[in-house]
Formats: sequence, structure tokens, C-alpha cells
Amino acid sequence: MNTMVWKVDKYVDNLENNPQVVDAANFLRKNEVVALPTETVYGLGGNAESDEAVAKIYVAKGRPGDNPLIIHIAEREQLKQFAAEVPALAETLMDAFWPGPLTIIFKRKEGVLSEKATAGLATVAVRMPDHPVALALLKSCGLPIAAPSANSSGKPSPTKAEHVLDDLNGKIAGVLDGGVTGVGVESTVVDCTEMIPVILRPGGVTKEQLEAVVGEVREDAALTDEAAQPKAPGMKYRHYAPNAPLFMVSGTAGFLQRLVEEKRSEGLRVGLLTTEENVSGYDADLVLACGRRGELETVAAALYDTLRRFNQENVDIIFSEIFPNTGVGHAIMNRLQKAAGNKLISE
Ligand code: AMP
Ligand code: MG
Repeated sequence: MNTMVWKVDKYVDNLENNPQVVDAANFLRKNEVVALPTETVYGLGGNAESDEAVAKIYVAKGRPGDNPLIIHIAEREQLKQFAAEVPALAETLMDAFWPGPLTIIFKRKEGVLSEKATAGLATVAVRMPDHPVALALLKSCGLPIAAPSANSSGKPSPTKAEHVLDDLNGKIAGVLDGGVTGVGVESTVVDCTEMIPVILRPGGVTKEQLEAVVGEVREDAALTDEAAQPKAPGMKYRHYAPNAPLFMVSGTAGFLQRLVEEKRSEGLRVGLLTTEENVSGYDADLVLACGRRGELETVAAALYDTLRRFNQENVDIIFSEIFPNTGVGHAIMNRLQKAAGNKLISE
């Protein structure tokens, strides 16, 4: 399949009628799948009402069929079509965070969305992305769009159109190239089917931000207890992994440098993930600065691109600094733990 690349300037007016966006929307209406920029990462969109379209998403990504998709909408009105109920708590969260990087789990109405999109669950995950190109595409096609991250399953999520093409060129109808995404880590997934909201996946909206709006917020036990069964099916899979094994390192810069030297003396090409503050203090085969530690949002924005750059340089092993587990650092550490398969070396 020839994968189209539609370049779109996200700052132009009247994006809904932009020929590239209209072209992409037409493919969606024909149940083809197209990648689109959002404020978190690039998504791989398909008509959520169509088994045919949703099946194409799973096939292109190589995604396990038991991992449900997030449904993207442009208008809150659309929720009524497929959410069985919209609790007051969810209304409050939508008022505060939509459009934005917050996915809300609702009880699902039967018979509207493709069962494949929700992996047969009685619930459905929904979000309204805060990106002018994504919103224009959603409005232009008028459909609820199922859109997981537009990467091959298991790989780091795409934050640029080039990342999408690296993984999916020839496997999807096209990609709307709207430039680099902003937040860089995926949305926070919060279950609103109970009285107290539960975070199933940390992401772009922090626990602290949620609590400031709705009071008590819990976290799924699986986020801290490896033995617990996660409520978000996707959280049980290894994700975001670069090709070389990645180890998180807790300790001083001196300790990390000694680990690097040990592996180099064994003849391995060693990569090191640090931040701009520390980048000049290390010596390894490839030292990459992933944003600034003093501003964790910049680390989130650069994380997946940095993980992908290690692949291009063919390192044999990667050591990474770790980050504070608060605010957006919580989402960063969750992704790093998954990328590392939880491998942690402590001083
Ligand atoms: P992705 O779209 O790849 O960023 O992943 C979406 C995440 O949301 C995965 O971890 C899914 O398992 C999770 N998810 C989607 N729908 C539901 C649902 N109805 N209940 C719980 N988790 C969900
Ligand atoms: Mg994903």
C-alpha cells in the first residue's frame, strides 16, 4: 500500500476544509486508517463504528486484540451516542481538561461502536484531543475515531510523522504531518465508572491536577504493585522498548559512568540517557540529552524521540538516569519502567 503524506500547518485558519484534512477524512469514511497528530503523540485513526477499520488498526500495529482503543471525539455531544451514562464527576473532569490529555472510561452503550475497538469490554475509553489538526479531522469526518498510538506495538510511541513512517510506511493509507507533538507522553487514563476516580495509566494530566478539581483520586494497584492485574488491559504489555536492552540506574553520575566503563571494557557499544544539565559530564558511545531535568515537561516531550535515536545508532546496551516520580515525572517513570522491562540497577 502506498502511504500518503499530507503536510498540514496547524496554525492556518479553517483547517476543517483544508484539502489535506478533507482527503484524510475521506479515507477515514472509507474505513481506511490514517495517522494524525495529537497534543500527546501521533495516533493511528480509524472509524470506531466499523469492524473493518478497527481490524486494520490492530493489523498495522501488530497490537494484541485484547487491548482496547481510545475513542476520539471533537464534540461532547458525540458521547451520548455510545456512553451509557455520563456521571457528574466525568462532566467536571471534561469541563476542566477537555480538550486535553485526559482519557475517561465510561460505561458503554451496546451496538454502536465496533466490539473490536473496546475489546469486548462493558466500558469505553474516550478523549477529546487538544490539537487543531486532530480536531479538524474529527469534525471533517464526523465519526468517532478509534486511535491508539501510531507505532508498531511495543515500540516507543511516535512524536513526529517520521516516527510513524519508520514503523508503518506501506501499512496505512496515510499520515497527516502536523509537525512535532507537544506533551510527548500519552494521555492519563482515568476510570470514572465508580464514585472515586481511578488513574489506570499516568499521563499528560497529573494526579495533582486531577485532585485539585475533583478531590480524592486513586491509582490502580498495578501501577505500584507488579503482581497486581492492571485494569487497563494495555498496561500489562511491554511498551516503548528500544532495540537494545535498557537499564534504569539509581545512583550518582560516578556510579553510572562506572557501569558504562564496565560494559565498554567488554567490547559493547554503550548508550546513555541523561538530560541537558548532565550531558557533558559523561563519556559513552552515545550520550543523549532528553530534555532538561529542571523542567520535566521537556523530558516527557523528548523521551520517545530519544529512545528511537538509540536504535539509529545501534548501541548494544543503554543506561538511563531516573526521574522524580511526581507530577509529569510519574508518567515519564511509568514509560521508562516499561521500556526497561523494569530493569533497575541501584548504587
Ligand atoms: P494507547 O491508545 O496505545 O495509548 O493505549 C490506550 C490505553 O487505554 C491502553 O492501556 C488500554 O488498555 C486502555 N484502555 C482502553 N480502553 C479501556 C477500557 N475500556 N478500560 C480500561 N482501559 C482501557
Ligand atoms: Mg500505545
